[in-house]
Amino acid sequence: MAKKPKFQRPRGMHDVLPEEQKYYQRIYDIVSNIADFYEFGKIDTPIVEEIGLFSKGIGLATDIVKKQMYSLKTRGADSLALRPEWTAPVVRAYIENGMRNLPQPLKLWYFGPCYRYERPQSDRYRQFWQFGFEVFGEQNPVIDAQIIQIFYNILQELKLKNLIVEVNSIGDSNCRPYYKKLLANYFRSREVSLCVDCKRRLRENVLRVLDCKEEKCQPIKAEAPQILDHLCDECHEHFKEVLEFLDEIEIPYNLNPYLVRGLDYYTKTVFEIFAAEGNNALAGGGRYDKLVKVLGGRETPACGAAAGIERIISLMKSQEVKFPKEPETQIFLAQLGSLAKRKSLKLLEDFRKAKIRVAESFGRDSLKAQLNRADKIKAKYTLILGQKEALEGIIIIRDMQSGKQEIVALDKVIQKMKKRLKK
Ligand code: AMP
Repeated sequence: MAKKPKFQRPRGMHDVLPEEQKYYQRIYDIVSNIADFYEFGKIDTPIVEEIGLFSKGIGLATDIVKKQMYSLKTRGADSLALRPEWTAPVVRAYIENGMRNLPQPLKLWYFGPCYRYERPQSDRYRQFWQFGFEVFGEQNPVIDAQIIQIFYNILQELKLKNLIVEVNSIGDSNCRPYYKKLLANYFRSREVSLCVDCKRRLRENVLRVLDCKEEKCQPIKAEAPQILDHLCDECHEHFKEVLEFLDEIEIPYNLNPYLVRGLDYYTKTVFEIFAAEGNNALAGGGRYDKLVKVLGGRETPACGAAAGIERIISLMKSQEVKFPKEPETQIFLAQLGSLAKRKSLKLLEDFRKAKIRVAESFGRDSLKAQLNRADKIKAKYTLILGQKEALEGIIIIRDMQSGKQEIVALDKVIQKMKKRLKK
């Protein structure tokens, strides 16, 4: 067995190697294009925040806050945590930077890593990347539908197939307390048959019993009262309109009465997007009309969602998503001798400034080895600069297919190559 390296990456975290970068880049390009189109402004927040922001924002009884936070004390004794999600930090930034005074709705998007101390397993990491969109200052249900549409569009533009949108409403402070009471009464009457986690959830946050995946809890859940039957008029109307908008923009969705999401701050609409072949959500979010106030701002309706980039990449791989063709490097620059090598360095820079891709192998001195490399990358042309050419200020252009060679002045080669590449 190979010896373990002295240092290894932290458990549940991974390096993004050069061959993986194209996935991140592709997602970034599509997300930022869509963000531009819908007029979202990009925001970055610090990777660490005061820990209280998360315990207050996400909720003390949530798994994220109870078990998954990476917390640290600074030398100055501040209690900070690595961000486990972006919404609370973005809300903090909205309040702290007085963004309420800007024209509303205020739309923000982000792209960056998050940290959760979870048990690592496939598609569940301790450092994972998210992108997300948040809209502040608008309570109209059209926003909820637009947020869902944006995520659906992004996943579609990434050419992902078999997407399933699940939506639900979890009501607000008018109707949810009564529903939670009903639900708690119902589950309490069947508590003996619930799994250990659900017994705990029943005391801490009864809604979470609804998203339990344990086999033995399923039949009990199936008989539970459903929130959609207990929404107040306002929440009912809001949800109806969200669904009408989704119908209008032809986004297929399933109503999922068990969808409650793991964070406390949601009101009214919640949604998640899955791929048919996977159990883990690709994206999730919803409306959170109370959070700005909870975190110290003025009451401001808001709605948003985030997607997990590693999960999207894993699906892109399993669905063998094709990438647009990369521009090929058609020219290889070969050099022979020390003067030629020096001149080649300069010539390469001139090609870069002219925005023409050129490959090289300056570390190699043998012409044969360099030509091998030119063959390998399937270069159409090889430029050969030997000692004699370097002295005379000329260079050889070799057409790799026909083997034909042309000698040109060194200071004309860029022009010549531009013409040839145009053909
Ligand atoms: P959440 O707000 O927890 O639903 O997270 C939003 C999205 O982030 C999820 O739908 C996942 O795609 C992704 N995500 C959350 N936790 C993890 C994790 N531990 N590893 C990878 N992706 C995650």
